[in-house]
Amino acid sequence: MLALSSPNAPFAHAVLNWYAKFGRKHLPWQQNKSLYGVWLSEVMLQQTQVATVIPYFERFVKTFPNVTALANAPLDEVLHLWTGLGYYARARNLHKAAQTIRDQYEGNFPTDFEQVWGLTGVGRSTAGAVLSSCLNAPYPILDGNVKRVLSRYFAISGWPGEKKVEEQLWQLSAQVTPTEQVADFNQAMMDIGAMVCTRTKPKCDLCPLKATCQANLQQNWQNYPGKKPKKTLPERSSYFLILNAKGKVALEQRENSGIWGGLYCFPQFENKVDLLAFLHKQGIAYYQEWSSFRHTFSHFHLDIYPIYADVDMQERLQDRSDWKKVGENKREYESTVLSEVKYWYDPQNPTQIGLAAPVKSLLMQFIRNYYG
Ligand code: SF4
Repeated sequence: MLALSSPNAPFAHAVLNWYAKFGRKHLPWQQNKSLYGVWLSEVMLQQTQVATVIPYFERFVKTFPNVTALANAPLDEVLHLWTGLGYYARARNLHKAAQTIRDQYEGNFPTDFEQVWGLTGVGRSTAGAVLSSCLNAPYPILDGNVKRVLSRYFAISGWPGEKKVEEQLWQLSAQVTPTEQVADFNQAMMDIGAMVCTRTKPKCDLCPLKATCQANLQQNWQNYPGKKPKKTLPERSSYFLILNAKGKVALEQRENSGIWGGLYCFPQFENKVDLLAFLHKQGIAYYQEWSSFRHTFSHFHLDIYPIYADVDMQERLQDRSDWKKVGENKREYESTVLSEVKYWYDPQNPTQIGLAAPVKSLLMQFIRNYYG
């Protein structure tokens, strides 16, 4: 890390001068800055764009104005507010970290780097961003934007997800980060990455680093950062049962870990045969197939096949061609749903629960079809 008076400081000066003119200074978490608000925003901004995060952030701080309020809230309420933001482990980790702060630090957000880094879901870069942003503490950061700027500026080959490359980028980040005005510098680096040194078509002409940037001088920004080695994502499929009983829909809460942990989803079946066997066992004679679609997670594709059935409307549907007969499938299937549905979601009186994005959009489709 360098003092701004150091002869090696032109990088930091260029970045800070740019920030004074063009940097973002009016984001909601930059107003009345608090460690809690900046931490919240940093976690929300992981893998998510600023414009998407803003309304979520505003709702969050309104509902949970401080870390203790977040810690004391039921996880369901936290997941409900997170619905649509994706990567739900972030919400579960926020909640857990808030409880740690309440229980171990008397509700006061820690200011010690190791303690912040030790919070669930907080990485080295997030810890640095929180402490530098609020306290001007001299910690470098290395989020996706900063990785891109530094990889190009120093022409660092290799994928930043590789330990060796990441370590190299951390060293460079520490080298260029000044010991003064760290809050502005780190914000500027994130802004340059988001606004100027964009993934495609970087605006090098407008960049404060253009005169000494290796990728600009060599006109080969496409080479940096190195790409993640290609791996074809595995494909999985799941049959979602949208089961309607008098306008309410059966949902199940998922285990707290894994994908959609803690969220509410439709009963899921690995294949159609199991789903139809289940309907048959429940005495449900007809069903509709809705359009299938693909939801992609970071590590696999999930092809979703929604099947709709109405518990109470079996007789009247016999002549409708868009309804299919369940058939005489005698296969035994241990029912865990209809007789034991623990949760019927009432769209007319929705409770605050977390819903996975595809579940939310299928519920919207149900509401349009059923309630008009
Ligand atoms: S000059 Fe171009 S490639 Fe280099 S850091 Fe700036 S925007 Fe990125």
